Amino acid sequence: MNILVTGGLGYIGSHTCVELLEHGYNVIVIDNLSNSKIEVKDYIKTITGKDINFVEGDVCNKQTVEHVFATYPVDAVIHFAAYKAVGESVHKPIAYYQNNLMSTLTLCEVMSKHNCKKFVFSSSATVYGDPKQVPIDETCEVGATTNPYGTSKVMNEQILQDVYISDPTWDVVLLRYFNPIGAHHSGLIGESPVGIPNNIMPYIAMVANKELPELHVFGNDYDTPDGTGVRDYIHVVDLAKGHVKALDYMTRQKVGVDAINLGTGNGYSVLELVQAFEKDNHIAVPYVIDPRREGDIAVCYAATDKAKDVLNWVAKKDIHDMVKDSWKFKMGLQGVVHEEN
Ligand code: NAD
Ligand code: UDP
Repeated sequence: MNILVTGGLGYIGSHTCVELLEHGYNVIVIDNLSNSKIEVKDYIKTITGKDINFVEGDVCNKQTVEHVFATYPVDAVIHFAAYKAVGESVHKPIAYYQNNLMSTLTLCEVMSKHNCKKFVFSSSATVYGDPKQVPIDETCEVGATTNPYGTSKVMNEQILQDVYISDPTWDVVLLRYFNPIGAHHSGLIGESPVGIPNNIMPYIAMVANKELPELHVFGNDYDTPDGTGVRDYIHVVDLAKGHVKALDYMTRQKVGVDAINLGTGNGYSVLELVQAFEKDNHIAVPYVIDPRREGDIAVCYAATDKAKDVLNWVAKKDIHDMVKDSWKFKMGLQGVVHEEN
C-alpha cells in the first residue's frame, strides 16, 4: 500500500515514516523543509534500511500535489504538514490559516480527482479548548479555541467532515494528539525546533544542556496537586504507531469520519516532568516560577477507551522512556537502532 505522508520529515511525521516502513508500507513524503532538515531522510533509511520516495515541495501548491499523484498510485494520505506554534499563530494568523487550510483543501481536491479517499489528519487536543471535564473524551465539545493555530485545527476537522458529507465514499480519521515528547530510541530523529522552543520538552533539554539558563515554569497557582499545569505527555513513537493503526482501521472497515484521541490517559505536572527528567538522566534542570502563560489551561488528559476499542491501540511507553529518549536525542547519542515492536 502506498501512503503519502505530508510533512514526513518533521517531528511526528519522521517517526511515523519509520513505523510505516517497518510495517511494509511504501512511503511517499512531500515536505517543503520549512521546519525540518533533509538529513532526516537519511536517518529514516539508517533506522529502517528502507528508502522513502521524497518530493521537496509545498502541499499548498496544486501542481506539486498533482505531480505526486500522477507519479505514485497513492492509496491513503497522512497529513502532518502544518505550522504549529501557538504563540506565533497569534501574530501571523494569515500565514497560519493559509498554510493549515490550503494544504488540506489542495490535498482533498487532488485526492478526489484521483479517487484516493482515505485521509488521516493530525488534529490536536487543542480543539477541546478549556475542557469542562477530564479525562477528555471524543464527545466533549470542540471549538472554544484560544488561538488561530487551534482554530485552524477545528476548521480542518469541519472541512473534512463536509467533504465526507458531500461524498460518503471518503474515510477520514481525525487523530487528536495530546502532548507528544520523546524521540526514537536510536537517538537519530527527534524534535529540534528552530530558535527558543515554545514547548516544554525541548526547552527542558536546552536548559539541561546549558544552552538556556533556566526553565520558566508558567504558573504554580493552578488547581492541581503542586500548582503547575498538568498534561498528558505521550511518547512520539507510540503516537506514530497510532497512525499505522488508523490505516489498519480504514482498511478493515468503512469509517466515515471518526475523531480519536491519542494520549496515555495519565496527567503529569510540569514539576513532575522536570523531576523525572532530572532523576532519570542524572542532570539538573534549574527553574524559576513565572506567571501563568496566556491561553494555558490547568489540566488536560485524554480518555483513551476509544483508541483502545476502535484502533486496538494503547500507549506503551512511560514517562521515564519519554524523558530518557528526549535527552538521548539532544545529546546526539546514537545507540542500538532496532528494538522489538
Ligand atoms: P513539524 O513542524 O516538526 O512537522 C511539520 C512538517 O511539515 C515539517 O517538516 C515542515 O517542513 C512541513 N511543512 C509545513 N508546511 C508545509 C507545506 N505547506 N508543504 C509541505 N511541507 C510543509 O511538526 P510536528 O510536531 O511533527 O507536527 C505534525 C502535525 O501534528 C502538525 O499538523 C501539528 O499541528 C500536529 N500536532 C502537533 C503536536 C505537537 O505537539 N508536536 C500536537 C498536536 C498536533
Ligand atoms: N510550560 C512551562 N514552561 C515552558 C513551556 C511550557 O511551564 O517553557 C508548561 C505549560 O504551561 C503547560 C505545559 O508546560 O502547562 C505544556 O506546555 P506545552 O507548550 O509543551 O504544550 P501545550 O499543552 O501548551 O500544548
